[in-house]
Amino acid sequence: MISENIKIIKENILNSALSVGRSKEEASLIAVSKTKPVSMLMEAYEAGMRDFGENKVQELMDKMPQMPEDVRWHMIGHLQTNKVKYIVGKVSLIHSVESIRLAEEISKYSVNRGVTSKILIEVNVSGEESKYGVPYESAEEMIDRIAKLPGILVVGLMTVAPFTTNPEDSRMVFRKLKQLSVDIAAKNIDNVSMNVLSMGMSGDYQVAVEEGATYVRVGSDIFGNRVYQ
Ligand SMILES: *Cc1c(COP(=O)(O)O)cnc(C)c1O
Repeated sequence: MISENIKIIKENILNSALSVGRSKEEASLIAVSKTKPVSMLMEAYEAGMRDFGENKVQELMDKMPQMPEDVRWHMIGHLQTNKVKYIVGKVSLIHSVESIRLAEEISKYSVNRGVTSKILIEVNVSGEESKYGVPYESAEEMIDRIAKLPGILVVGLMTVAPFTTNPEDSRMVFRKLKQLSVDIAAKNIDNVSMNVLSMGMSGDYQVAVEEGATYVRVGSDIFGNRVYQ
């Protein structure tokens, strides 16, 4: 089941990329495994997945030692400053940086441990009140400031589109995030590259790839619906 799902999603990603003239290497899949048992992650691993996304630090720390060492872990959920110490140097990318305070904490632990942390700035493109992320208008200024912190590389942007049942509703959100990344890249800020665009989930990842996503974060389409206690 899981391996079949992954195969279908990868084909869809490829087709979406090709439909807009992108090459297949440009968009990769992150398996969002939150709430799912390690046995299911291993099934995805056996099917070739190496990028896994989790949204809670505790769950990430529990699963990490149980999975093979070549897994690349992505922190995609809201990150509290007091939890930063657990993940710096262990995850390959933090997608959800949305404040200077959080970036400072990541910087502090990165310098302490002699590592460079790659981060994405989470942008609230739609302005939806319930969403995490930096307001669209403030993103550039925040990146300017975060870029000066040691031990950190800003490598791109991330967004979560508002929930909808029609994937086309997300298109303008993704297009705006892409435009913002192009604008910021043009500024040539030290320690900032805009090579990564993390956008698109189960409902809208194909639209995201058409609009330039380099990572799509897919959970339920791979592992089935989540049950929260
Ligand atoms: C849960 C989650 C996903 C995956 O959602 P699905 O709809 O299950 O694909 C993607 N991104 C973030 C930030 C998430 O929290």
